[in-house]
Amino acid sequence: MTIYKMILTQCAVCATELGLSSGKKCGRCSTRYCGPECQVQHWKEGGHDQLCKSIKKAGGAEQYNANKKYTEAVAVAAEACAEDTKGQTCYICTQALHWKTKEGLVRGCSCRGTAGFAHVSCLAEQAKILFAEAEENNLSLKTINERWRRWDTCSLCEQQYHGVVACALTWACWKTYLGRPETDQIWRMAMQQLGNGLCEADLEEDALSVREAELSMSRRLGASESDILVVQCNLAITYRKLKRLDEALRLRQEVYSGRLRLDGEEHERTLTAASHYSSSLIDLKRFEEAKALLRKMLPVARRVLGENYELTLRMRWVYAQTLYTDTSATLDDLREAVTTLEDTARTARRVLGGAHPFTAGIEQALRKARAALRAREPR
Ligand SMILES: [Zn+2]
Ligand SMILES: [Zn+2]
Ligand SMILES: [Zn+2]
Ligand SMILES: [Zn+2]
Repeated sequence: MTIYKMILTQCAVCATELGLSSGKKCGRCSTRYCGPECQVQHWKEGGHDQLCKSIKKAGGAEQYNANKKYTEAVAVAAEACAEDTKGQTCYICTQALHWKTKEGLVRGCSCRGTAGFAHVSCLAEQAKILFAEAEENNLSLKTINERWRRWDTCSLCEQQYHGVVACALTWACWKTYLGRPETDQIWRMAMQQLGNGLCEADLEEDALSVREAELSMSRRLGASESDILVVQCNLAITYRKLKRLDEALRLRQEVYSGRLRLDGEEHERTLTAASHYSSSLIDLKRFEEAKALLRKMLPVARRVLGENYELTLRMRWVYAQTLYTDTSATLDDLREAVTTLEDTARTARRVLGGAHPFTAGIEQALRKARAALRAREPR
């Protein structure tokens, strides 16, 4: 059986879901169909006779699709950043307009002032070169992993890119590595990166099909238990965004117990899993369980990771949520929620900056907690 190492999992004509290995494909360009009827129709009436050659030339259907999606995503990101980047230049090529693509600038990290403006193409080129150098020279695994972070983390402020900028960069990443054999670790990392980027840009349905393909691929290729937990964790995020809350909770419970067993309670991955699991418990209004879990794990996070660490902040935020979202919360619970969030918001502002979505989220939670407290406080 042929395995299509693809994220294009639907018939190009009728959009029937084909999974990873069913259906038919164009012998020249690998465009996928549910069967001969759709293939013939696409050729005769769908314009495939005109496009087939260019798709083949680009490196096949998957590469063609990735290149096209990349160009679209760059345009979306530059447009979204147009206001913020007006009058600035790229810190990599020093130009305002990219010399070749004519794309505009973006900034989607925690850089402030005049720092961190760049072209997605320049960021991508830099990541690609740095990573290739690490691979070619057989640098240590640690260096290889650090270099890989250039696909999702700013080298200046060391914070992750977010939103549409993150999304455009992950299309760049995917189009760079999709031609690798599926047994190559880098191929799976690129696919995972793409799922993250689509999720960052709120393209949930697209993210879901990438994540699901990734999970069945990982299982089929015999990935380690730890790697599969990573994929399940990402899939849960997507389920949650799609409001498939029970499925998200089930996965997160599984990931949390898997992490406890594999990594122990002090590992960052276990703490992240605990934070996710408690968020899902809150979604389903299972406040007592969420509270109990966080009372156990939050002290571990503060001790092991420190107060300024983003995950510690996130866990305190979730903990405050268990307090103020619960309709049976006591006055003391609400007061504790407000002080926790005030403290967390101050730290987030200092560490991540006021424009970071994380800080904005905590401040919004603080407003909600204060409102809940005002509504209840005796006059
Ligand atoms: Zn079809
Ligand atoms: Zn074709
Ligand atoms: Zn540039
Ligand atoms: Zn930055």
